[in-house]
Amino acid sequence: DERHYGCFLFFEEGGLYAWAAEPHSEEQISILKKFSRVVEITYRRYNDLIESEAREKEAVKQASLDRVRAEIASMRTAEDLERITPLIWKELTTLGIPFFRCGVFIMDEPSEMVHVYLTTPEGKALAAMDLPFDFDMSLIQKGVEHWRKQEPLIEEWDQKQFVEMTKKLMEQGRVKSAVSYQAGEAPPERLVLHQVPFAQGMLYVGSAELLSDEEMDIVQALTRTFAVAYARYEDFRELEKAKEKVENTLADLKATQAQLIQSEKMASLGELTAGIAHEIKNPLNFVNNFSDVSRELLEELIEEMEKGDFEEVRALAGDVIQNLEKIVHHGQRADGIVKGMLQHSRSGDGKKEPTNLNELADEYLRLAYHGLRARDKSFNAGMETDFDNSLGTMDVVPQDIGRVLLNLITNAFHAVNERRETAGDGYSPCVRVQTRKMQDGVEISVGDNGGGIPEKIRDKIFQPFFTTKPTGQGTGLGLSLSYDIVKAHGGEIVVESEKGKGTEFRIILPVI
Ligand code: ADP
Repeated sequence: DERHYGCFLFFEEGGLYAWAAEPHSEEQISILKKFSRVVEITYRRYNDLIESEAREKEAVKQASLDRVRAEIASMRTAEDLERITPLIWKELTTLGIPFFRCGVFIMDEPSEMVHVYLTTPEGKALAAMDLPFDFDMSLIQKGVEHWRKQEPLIEEWDQKQFVEMTKKLMEQGRVKSAVSYQAGEAPPERLVLHQVPFAQGMLYVGSAELLSDEEMDIVQALTRTFAVAYARYEDFRELEKAKEKVENTLADLKATQAQLIQSEKMASLGELTAGIAHEIKNPLNFVNNFSDVSRELLEELIEEMEKGDFEEVRALAGDVIQNLEKIVHHGQRADGIVKGMLQHSRSGDGKKEPTNLNELADEYLRLAYHGLRARDKSFNAGMETDFDNSLGTMDVVPQDIGRVLLNLITNAFHAVNERRETAGDGYSPCVRVQTRKMQDGVEISVGDNGGGIPEKIRDKIFQPFFTTKPTGQGTGLGLSLSYDIVKAHGGEIVVESEKGKGTEFRIILPVI
C-alpha cells in the first residue's frame, strides 16, 4: 500500500509534520499536539537567544564606537595622537577582530607625508613614523593611492618580507617613537595587511588571516567613527591655532595701541609747548617786573627811613607787600602751568580731584590758541568764552579732561583755519567754549564756525585712526581717546555739525 497519513501541526514560525502508515489515533494526535507546542517554545527560545546575542554584539560595538568618539574628543595636541593606536588596539580587541598589528596612517596632503602610528596587540605604542608619500614600500605608496580613491587595500605578505621592512625602517632611523620597533612580537608566517580608508587616512589591521566580511564590516564601522571624531579633533586644532594667532595679534595690537596713545600724548604735548611757553612768559614778566619795582620801592624805603619819615616808610612797605603777593600769585600760576604740562604727558593713572572746569577750559583754550599762533604766524581766530560761574568744582581727572578739551579746541581751530583759507574777507573765524550747569551734571561745549563735518563721515570720527588730515598731521586718535576718557567719567560726548555753519562738540559729565 502506497498510502501515507500525515499529521501537520502548524505554529507561527513553522510546523511539525508526522507521517505514518496508519492514520494517527486521537490519543497520538493529542501527544503530537503537545510535542509541537514544546518544539514551538524551544524554537522561540532559540530565536530569542540568537537575537539577544546579536543585540549584545551590537551593544558592544556601539559602546566601543562611543569610546572611540569620547577618547578622540578629549585629544587636544599632536602628542595626544600617540594615544590613537592603543585606542584602536583596545577596541579591535573588544570587537573580537583577530590581529597582531594595528594602527593609523594619517595622510598629510600639504606636506605629502604619511604619519604612521602603530601598536602591538598588547597595546604598546610600537612606533610613530613620518614617511613621504613616495616612500619605497608598497604599504605606503599603494596605501596613498588607494586612500585617494577611498578604496580598501589588502596585501598578502610573508614573514620574511615583513621582517625586512621592519629592519629597513629601523636602519633608516624612520622610527621616531621612544619604544623600539622591535619590541613588537615576531610576526606570523603569513600576513594579511588590511587598510580601510577614511577621509584623513587609512586604518591599518595586520592579521594572520583575511578578515571575514563581518569582521571587515566592523572594522569599517570603527573607521567611520574614527574619521568623524578625528575630523572634529582637526577642527579643534585649527581653532586652537586660530585662537593662538588671534591672541598674539591682540597682544601685539594692545602693545601698539599703548605706544600710539603715548606718542599721541607726546604729539599733543608738542602742540602745547608753544602755548605753554607763551603762557609762562606772562607770569614770568609779572614776576620780573614786580621784583624790579619792589627793589626800587625798598631802596626808596631805606632813604625815607634815613630821613625818619616813617609815615612814608609804612606806605612803601605796604606797596612792597602787595607786590610780593602778586609775585607769589604769578609764580603759582607758572607753577600750575608746568604741573599741568607734566600731568598731561603722564600715563593714565590720574586720580579724580576737585577741579574748576571753567579754569581748566580757559587754560587749555589759551594754550591751544597760543600754541597754534606760535607755530603759524598767519593763524588767527577769535575766541569766545561763556562760563557758568555757578559751576563750582567737580571731581574729574584734570589732565584727562584737559586732554579732551585740548583735542576739541585744536580740532575747532583747525576747522576755522581751514575755512579761512578759502573763505572771503567777510569770514571771521571763531571758536567758542561754553560751560553750563545742568540738573545733574555739567555740560562743556566747544563750538566753531568752520566748514562742518560732512554727513557721511560723521559716524566715523570717533573711530581710532580716522582722520581727514594730511599724513603726518593727524593721528586720528584725538576723538577716539576723548570718547574713552569721557566714557570713563561716566559721561557722553555728542556732536552737532552743519555744513557751512560749523560744528559743536558737547561733553556732558554727570555729577556722581
Ligand atoms: P585728527 O585730529 O588727528 O584727525 P581726531 O580724532 O581728533 O583726529 O578727528 C578725526 C576727524 O574728525 C578729523 O580728521 C576731522 O575730519 C574730523 N573733525 C574733528 N573735529 C572737527 C571739527 N571741529 N570740524 C570739522 N571736522 C572735525
